Amino acid sequence: MSIKKKIPLLFCLLVFLILLSNNTFHYVRSKSQLLNYNEKEIEMIIKEVSFQVEKTKEGSLYVEDILGRDLRIASLAIKQKLPPNYQDISNEQLTSLAKEVGVSHITLLAKTPDDIIGIKSSDPEEINMSTKDWGYWYDAYKQLFALTPVSVGKGLTLPYYWSGPIEIASSDPEHIDKWGYYFDGSTNYIINPYFRDNEVLEYEERFGPGKVIEGFIKERGVLELSVINPKNFGKKSEVVHLNGNSYIRISARPIWYGSYKYRNVKEDTKLVKNAIKTKELQSYKVCLNGKSIMKTFVPVFPKNDQAYVIGLVYNYGLIEQELRHELMAHVLLSIVIMIIVLIISFIFSRSITKPIGYIVDQVNDIAQGNYEKNIHLNRKDELGLLTENVNSLSKHLQSYVKDLHQSKELIEYQAYHDPLTGLLNRRYVLEKLTPFINRANETGNKISVLFIDLDRFKQVNDSFGHSKGDEILKTVANRIKDCLPEDDTIIITRQGGDEFIIFLVDIDISQTKNVAERIVNNLKKSYSLDGSEIYLGASCGVSMYPDQSKDIDTLVIYADLAMYAAKKMGGNKVVVYSEKINKSNIKRPRLEARLRKAIENEEIEVYYQPKINADSGTIFGAEALVRWNDEEFGFVSPDLFIPIAEDTGLIQPLWEIVMKTACQQISSWNLKRSQSLSISVNFSARQFQEPDSMVKRVKEILSESRLNPQNFEIEITESILLNNSTEIVHSLQTLQNMGIAISIDDFGTGYSSLSYLKDLPIDSLKIDKSFIQNIDMEYRNTEIPEAIINFARSLHLNVIAEGVEKDFQKEFLLSKNCVQMQGYLFSKPLNKDEFERYMGDIKA
Ligand code: C2E
Ligand code: MG
Ligand code: MG
Repeated sequence: MSIKKKIPLLFCLLVFLILLSNNTFHYVRSKSQLLNYNEKEIEMIIKEVSFQVEKTKEGSLYVEDILGRDLRIASLAIKQKLPPNYQDISNEQLTSLAKEVGVSHITLLAKTPDDIIGIKSSDPEEINMSTKDWGYWYDAYKQLFALTPVSVGKGLTLPYYWSGPIEIASSDPEHIDKWGYYFDGSTNYIINPYFRDNEVLEYEERFGPGKVIEGFIKERGVLELSVINPKNFGKKSEVVHLNGNSYIRISARPIWYGSYKYRNVKEDTKLVKNAIKTKELQSYKVCLNGKSIMKTFVPVFPKNDQAYVIGLVYNYGLIEQELRHELMAHVLLSIVIMIIVLIISFIFSRSITKPIGYIVDQVNDIAQGNYEKNIHLNRKDELGLLTENVNSLSKHLQSYVKDLHQSKELIEYQAYHDPLTGLLNRRYVLEKLTPFINRANETGNKISVLFIDLDRFKQVNDSFGHSKGDEILKTVANRIKDCLPEDDTIIITRQGGDEFIIFLVDIDISQTKNVAERIVNNLKKSYSLDGSEIYLGASCGVSMYPDQSKDIDTLVIYADLAMYAAKKMGGNKVVVYSEKINKSNIKRPRLEARLRKAIENEEIEVYYQPKINADSGTIFGAEALVRWNDEEFGFVSPDLFIPIAEDTGLIQPLWEIVMKTACQQISSWNLKRSQSLSISVNFSARQFQEPDSMVKRVKEILSESRLNPQNFEIEITESILLNNSTEIVHSLQTLQNMGIAISIDDFGTGYSSLSYLKDLPIDSLKIDKSFIQNIDMEYRNTEIPEAIINFARSLHLNVIAEGVEKDFQKEFLLSKNCVQMQGYLFSKPLNKDEFERYMGDIKA
């Protein structure tokens, strides 16, 4: 995802999380706050209501007292107006009198022998009403008649007067009455005036908790308030029937004040009881009358009075609604914030990514190599700084790359040139020469190698110093160049010191000689050095490709040898390489020294050329071939260094190396193979100079390397046998007796008398590669190999062909039943790892 999208997304996610947690926190807090507030409100309401209830109670007692006294005054007024005998009084008279004195009704109570009854009344219900069963009321009447102060302990007792308490015998729902009773003995009846309903309830209506309750119900959220009588709540009301009216005692009403419309009697009864029992607020949430409500019951315990419970129904939906509203408001606000954040962060990210994108494009351009690029970004922030840095980086890079190019050119030049003379160096020669060699191979043209060495140059160096010597070398290089046409095909190189090598392409030997003579003559001329003239000579050796070798390193060595011969002949000469030179007594000091070093430093390697049974296609053995890759001379062919090794005695340590390495190697391979391989090692004549010690050493090496003698073969050349030494034959015999095979290498090139061979301890003949390579597609030149095969067979000797390069050569050999072969057709000599891979690829 691009940064441009990432930044706004990240911002939004962050803000979203913040808002989400904020909203959640807010919601939870609001809820608890609302509930808290609600609780507080309830507490306040409860306080107010309970206070009102208390007040009402006290107030109503007081009112009751006043009413009681009012009724007494009314009684006195009534007494004044009425005759002393009730017989003289009519009910109608009482009705009009009641109006006159301002009471609801007037009843006159008279004694009968066993009762006190309502004898006359403005209220027809009271007439003939018995009071015998009225408990302490009846007692009070009797005490009045007896003119003793009423002592029933309830109501209001004054002289000749008693007023009944309002709670008792108050009626609901029909009537609430307040009675007064007066008897001073001047009449034959108790004057009983009373107030009914409004007169009594007026006070309560005006000052009772009803008003307060009503007030609260109008308040937000409070749906209902009720003052509950815990004693009777949930029970059937006790209704008392008196005077034809049904009375419920105020104190016995289940709901004292307020209403109970949100009815859930069973649950509420339980909570009311619990509230009283635990003295703690009880509440619960419920859905009633289509509303989500919260009911709360708070117990109130007045000091000297009965406990009651205030029930409050709260519209819980309101809280929920409020919470919902609040949440909605927050969510809306959050959305707005999110949109704003999105827009701002998008603009912000664009303000960052746009210049970054621009910088990236430009840097890409610079990365492509467009270093002169200058980035313009008009900013004073980090990005501005970045562009400045990129610009200066690009500038540095530009000059760095320029330097690099120059250095590269210099390095390349130095890599391929001699710093002193500016001539090509050896490395480049090899590279440059390869296509010429390939061409020469195709065309059959020749390449000549000229090896030039200055005569007496050492003396110049010694007498004039190295810097003067260097000057001379530069002159020499120029003089050599002067003798050669300006031609791409001519390669001149300084080999080191005062040696120069020249490769001439497409040239024959006589042309080469002419060029060489020209150079030698030119170098012979005088050189001026510090005002004096000095004379140097030059010796030149020549070798030809491919006549003398196909290997360039070898050719160089040959040319070197020829140059050496020229020097030997007094210098200032051109000598062409020949076998004679190689084999002559010329010391090859450097090669020898290098070979000695290589042996000491264990730089000698052993390669293995597979020997194949061409009939079955299986590998049955290998020939160990020594390899020397010299730092100075490169790869040196065994054909070149084996004769040197033989001359110098180095052949002995060399042989030891090859023997040990090959035997150990083949032995370790055989451990992992089901079919053992045999290894053949080339023995040179030198090994047979002390045959006994050689045999001893062979035994030792075989046992050290745990190689079975059956798997070991010695390759010797006919020339060794030509010596005809009994000692040699004896040693061969010993070896053969041990199980070691003796093979005659390069068979056919020597001059051994064939008949002589049959008495020698020989196991195998190896047809020389020159005979095999002479066989052409038309199967010409097959006579010698065929004769050798037949001869071997006649002597019951094994026969193997080497140098098999072509399929038809193989086919010929197979047709003659010579199945053992060795040659590039199957494999070149391979190093250890290559040989292991080769074994893996071919059948065992
Ligand atoms: P050789 O013993 O006759 O070894 C065979 C030579 O023929 C090897 O050359 C091998 O690389 C080459 N050869 C094998 N197959 C082919 C092919 O198909 N075509 C051509 N053109 N050549 C092939 P290399 O290794 O250069 O050895 C040359 C000679 O040096 C050997 O001839 C052997 O006489 C001598 N030599 C090599 N290693 C040793 C050694 O350890 N001790 C001694 N004393 N002589 C050795
Ligand atoms: Mg050999
Ligand atoms: Mg050979």
